[in-house]
Amino acid sequence: MLFKNEYDVIIVGAGPGGSMAARVCAEGGLSVLLLEKRQEIGAPKRCGECLLNKELQYLGFSDNENFIMQKLDGSVFVLPNGKQKEIPFINFYNVILERKLFDKALCYKAAEAGAKIIAKATVVDVLKTDGKVTGIKAKIDGKIIDINSKIVIASDGVESKIARMAGLNTTNKTNNMAPGFQYELAGIKVKDEKKQYFFIGNDIVPRGYIWLFPKGKTVANVGIGLVEPKEKTAKEYLDDWIKTQPELKNSSIIEVNSGGIPIGGLLDNMVLDNFMIVGDAAHQVNPLHGGGIGEAAKAGEIAGNVAIKAIKACDTSQKALDEYNKVWWTEHGEKLKKIEKYRKIYTDKLTDRDITIIFESINGEMVSELARGRGAEKLIKIMLKNPKLVMLARHFL
Ligand SMILES: Cc1cc2nc3c(=O)[nH]c(=O)nc-3n(C[C@H](O)[C@H](O)[C@H](O)COP(=O)(O)OP(=O)(O)OC[C@H]3O[C@@H](n4cnc5c(N)ncnc54)[C@H](O)[C@@H]3O)c2cc1C
Repeated sequence: MLFKNEYDVIIVGAGPGGSMAARVCAEGGLSVLLLEKRQEIGAPKRCGECLLNKELQYLGFSDNENFIMQKLDGSVFVLPNGKQKEIPFINFYNVILERKLFDKALCYKAAEAGAKIIAKATVVDVLKTDGKVTGIKAKIDGKIIDINSKIVIASDGVESKIARMAGLNTTNKTNNMAPGFQYELAGIKVKDEKKQYFFIGNDIVPRGYIWLFPKGKTVANVGIGLVEPKEKTAKEYLDDWIKTQPELKNSSIIEVNSGGIPIGGLLDNMVLDNFMIVGDAAHQVNPLHGGGIGEAAKAGEIAGNVAIKAIKACDTSQKALDEYNKVWWTEHGEKLKKIEKYRKIYTDKLTDRDITIIFESINGEMVSELARGRGAEKLIKIMLKNPKLVMLARHFL
């Protein structure tokens, strides 16, 4: 394995955040090393594999890539009273990915741009001089090796340890972490393979939701995410619900995935001298639906651009890298903070009856708007006109 003992930037973790940061830094002329502890990038997935088509385009892919399993044209919400609310997508669509191929495709782009990528390379510590990060210590080919860099970017996912090693405490509160559990099920009958299904209601999943994302007519990712499960584990809630679904209960399990989803706890500061954090490691996830692929990649792009500027100016101090905090908060953080507020209303304030009335009163466009941190004003107007919802409107103010 050929690699140098010094790079401009070392990136830890080859998920969407890390591979995007690597691509941008390499395109900007920096020497880049991207290290991934898993022996196969993207596998096993920990993801429902759902992505907005606009994010796909943003990442430089067409909608005919080999990793696109299904295109979706709408959502179906199955409400606590059993009624279904169908919401067609307008001006956008979602795709269901084969994440293993997708994560690799992102890495191919980073490698084409000139980044050096090594799988089965675990970063075990950060190197420091005078308290400042100066590189990493990694286990590669069974050997512990020190590699220096001007900047280290930690994109090591939800269980991130690198930030803490560097000196940034990123511990999240338990009520900002949703345990997620998912099966990829085959041999099922999907009612409409062009729809993504969400099942909500305290009886089946308190403070969360169950999803069914079709990968075809007979295969789907069926998963659950919820806040602070008390009576049962996420898996138990999902298993009990699957038993009640005639079209799922005799299915085959193709893959089992689990992992935490940071649905809150955005960080004001994500930089130190010579150091930045990106993606799940920095809790950069949409707090309402838990989607983090696009968020991680966009943060990776911002961090990459700030790294290029800092290295070219020979100033990688915390003050110089603070531009990443500023740009990310302006372009993404403020929006995600609003969405976090809506998520807390959903998980902490609303009863099944409230949820049903709200869903029955609003149109699809508004659901999509709220999921993007917009549209609260319109929702408040509707709520103020409905005597059953007036008291709830105050939560959105
Ligand atoms: C059950 C579940 C369902 C989800 N469904 C969706 C969905 O449908 N759509 C969506 O957009 N998002 C979804 N998400 C969230 C999404 O998967 C993440 O937000 C996204 O992968 C974050 O990207 P990342 O690059 O920050 O981290 P990751 O993709 O987690 O990548 C981090 C990488 O760092 C590596 N790593 C960790 N430590 C080290 C180390 N010490 N040395 C080297 N490498 C290391 C890991 O092996 C990993 O490959 C889901 C999450 C879960 C748990």
